[in-house]
Amino acid sequence: MLQDSFGRVATDLRVSLTDRCNLRCTYCMPPEGLEWLPKPELLTAAEIARLVAIGVERLGITEVRYTGGEPLLRRELTEIVTRTAALRPRPQISLTTNGIGLARLAGPLKDAGLDRVNVSLDTLDAGVFVRLAHRDRLPDVLAGLEGAAAAGLLPVKINAVLMRGVNEHEAVPLLSWCLERDYELRFIEQMPLDAQHGWSRADMVTADEILGMLSREFDLTPADPGERGSAPAELFLIDGGPARVGVIGSVTRPFCGACDRVRLTADGQVRNCLFATEESDLRGAMRAGATDDELAERWRVAVRRKRAGHGIDDPSFLQPARPMSAIGG
Ligand code: SAM
Ligand code: SF4
Repeated sequence: MLQDSFGRVATDLRVSLTDRCNLRCTYCMPPEGLEWLPKPELLTAAEIARLVAIGVERLGITEVRYTGGEPLLRRELTEIVTRTAALRPRPQISLTTNGIGLARLAGPLKDAGLDRVNVSLDTLDAGVFVRLAHRDRLPDVLAGLEGAAAAGLLPVKINAVLMRGVNEHEAVPLLSWCLERDYELRFIEQMPLDAQHGWSRADMVTADEILGMLSREFDLTPADPGERGSAPAELFLIDGGPARVGVIGSVTRPFCGACDRVRLTADGQVRNCLFATEESDLRGAMRAGATDDELAERWRVAVRRKRAGHGIDDPSFLQPARPMSAIGG
């Protein structure tokens, strides 16, 4: 088991497959992009498969989510999913993607064993999309969503980050649009994880504000009150249900006390928290000849050191050196 000193058990593994991306969302990356990891530093598909197998077979991981950067840019993605689906006990396999290319890949990924997909969509306005993501790709994202639904990757979930003065006015239109299509929408508070260090608390659209905007249009009632568990999203039934909307108040309503996540970066570092300032190098150990037992033990030690919370409110809070795209969101 991957248990930390506060008794939390990590069962949900997020694996970043690449730090590269074909968008430049302002809350994540600067418009000019970043210096990408050199290829030799990236885990190969075989190395990823080995580490994921150790996680599932020896360490109690039950859910594997592939992310990035943009995971659809990784050519071996289908092969990686196939290998993950062959593990026993078979983990749940999901993908977080910006949706570009999903129209073509959703079918093959479903056939390979992908169970679910989260697509990031912050706006329905092509002009706002360009302002926010610095690329004119909204039609590709929308086609990707349709492809995911057609391939049966259900329920299709959508992640949206609202930015003040950019797309905050789209909370209600985004939800109405998702309801018409049976997509499950989750709003995520913007976190201090952008490479430019441009986050400011005053600019963050809070969970309370989002719920306020939605409540003016819809009747929201908590779904499963008191049963948030390790799920970061607080879920609300819309107009009595069954449709739901989620709000992830990572900053103002932290869920660190119930966190069950652990992360593996594209260059093979274990991170016990999005906001961790320390990492544990599994790639170096693996390439130096470590056995599966030794790698599992390193991983256990890395999780044991997990801090109680992200500490964004502490005066001593330091933003991690790696931005979201390199950590794997
Ligand atoms: N490129 C894929 C995508 O955009 O879905 C996967 C990686 S992305 C880093 C994963 C998720 O993190 C996306 O839903 C994105 O909106 C979210 N994200 C990125 N930067 C964020 C930030 N500073 N605060 C909150 N969420 C963020
Ligand atoms: Fe790329 Fe995802 Fe970051 Fe946007 S949030 S720049 S799509 S990695």
